[in-house]
Amino acid sequence: MSAIPPPGRAWSPRTPSRKRFCGWSRSPSSRPSCSNTACESFEETNSGVSVTTRCEKTGDVTQWTATYLIAADGAGSQTRRSAGIDMVGPATLAVMSNEYWRADLSRLPIAREAAGFIIIPDRPDLPRAGILNTNGRDRWLTVTQIGQAKDDRERPWTDQEFIEIARGHVGIPDLDVTLLNRSIWRVSMQVAETFRKGRVFLVGDCAHRFPPTGGFGLNSGVQDAHNLAWKLAFVLKGLADDKLLDSYSSERRPIAQSNANFSYGNRLRFGLTDDAVRSRNPDRIRFWINDMDNHLHSIGQNLGHNYEDGAVIPDGTVAKALNSRYYTPTDRPGARFPHMWLEPSRKKSTLDWFDKEFAVVTGPLGSEWLEAGKQVSEKTGLPLSLKQLPAADPADGFQLGMRGVVLVRPDGHVAWRMPWLPSDPAKELAGALSTLLH
Ligand SMILES: Cc1cc2nc3c(=O)[nH]c(=O)nc-3n(C[C@H](O)[C@H](O)[C@H](O)COP(=O)(O)OP(=O)(O)OC[C@H]3O[C@@H](n4cnc5c(N)ncnc54)[C@H](O)[C@@H]3O)c2cc1C
Repeated sequence: MSAIPPPGRAWSPRTPSRKRFCGWSRSPSSRPSCSNTACESFEETNSGVSVTTRCEKTGDVTQWTATYLIAADGAGSQTRRSAGIDMVGPATLAVMSNEYWRADLSRLPIAREAAGFIIIPDRPDLPRAGILNTNGRDRWLTVTQIGQAKDDRERPWTDQEFIEIARGHVGIPDLDVTLLNRSIWRVSMQVAETFRKGRVFLVGDCAHRFPPTGGFGLNSGVQDAHNLAWKLAFVLKGLADDKLLDSYSSERRPIAQSNANFSYGNRLRFGLTDDAVRSRNPDRIRFWINDMDNHLHSIGQNLGHNYEDGAVIPDGTVAKALNSRYYTPTDRPGARFPHMWLEPSRKKSTLDWFDKEFAVVTGPLGSEWLEAGKQVSEKTGLPLSLKQLPAADPADGFQLGMRGVVLVRPDGHVAWRMPWLPSDPAKELAGALSTLLH
């Protein structure tokens, strides 16, 4: 959970008494000494958000004011509920048990090679489970479905019972197993109805909960934060209007839904593969094992999404359907600007160009665009990063041409493209920036 201070102001606890600040002093450079701070409640006002936090160690309560509030408090987010934002989709597809354990399996070559194992035991006393490989040596996570809507076991396993399960799964009866921790969680497939309500933004699992099959939960959360951070910075610095922040939800929500669907498909495939293995029909097994490859190879799903509706200016080209297995780079508005190594040493990529500012990227013969960028930056006070591509292959996604331009956002997504040189490039560039930010 983080609250964003108003423009030009540091954090401002409203409580006057210093002893109630969890160790904060009023100096803007100081930091809280309480490392266990819980957000208790918040209230939206006309000009911002008032947040009440409590130090879990001391019980000290502090009130803060901020312009915006980012809710990043996970799948069970109280902040989302308080904001009145509903989740859409099934809340419980299964109830799962995680057991994280230590046992030295480094002598087994497969321990280094496999990312995880699906255990379909012959012994009826052992549950079917997945074992995820966390370090290729001695740390393992067993993930077991223990019910559909609730924990259906007669009672939770004791530590010793689980250790026997782990030994049975590995097939080494005297394996030295230490149980490190355990937790119970629900598989959900839900996306919040909106990622923004008033001054509150949802990020990460607070905004979407996927089946973990595919590894999209954390990835999507990082992309959410990357999408939102620069927009907040621009609005708080007075470089963009608040309406830019609406694009956070319109851009990220469809991606979250797509990732939810993809993760769900992966989950169904596990069940079908399980059925195939149990059937002992070699063709059926081969088919589903081969299809499992689509779970693991999903770079298109990770990198290939386009923002169609948001802080982008469509150029009339038609979006290609997302192919979850393959990533096709493109500099079309909404897409991630393609990667290209800029030096033979392969240390610097075009992706390193994008950080805090919009980047004007032109082709090898597009120096007029760089001059236009300089003029627009000087006139508007908007910092612009000016970049010129070496000759680049359109087949690698660089369709801006020798004299064209793309305007790339700080998060590396293309905001606008003009693959030719117009009569007044500065006017075109200024117009695009104004459309995007105001
Ligand atoms: C078995 C399994 C495997 C997974 N594998 C992958 C994978 O391979 N790749 C991947 O991308 N994702 C994976 N995920 C998903 C990933 O773990 C989550 O998507 C990610 O951790 C979500 O991060 P988050 O910061 O949004 O939420 P969380 O990690 O849940 O963090 C939320 C934090 O907010 C804190 N909090 C809650 N309430 C309050 C409050 N009121 N005040 C202050 N703090 C509060 C919590 O204590 C917690 O620290 C997996 C998940 C599971 C269950």
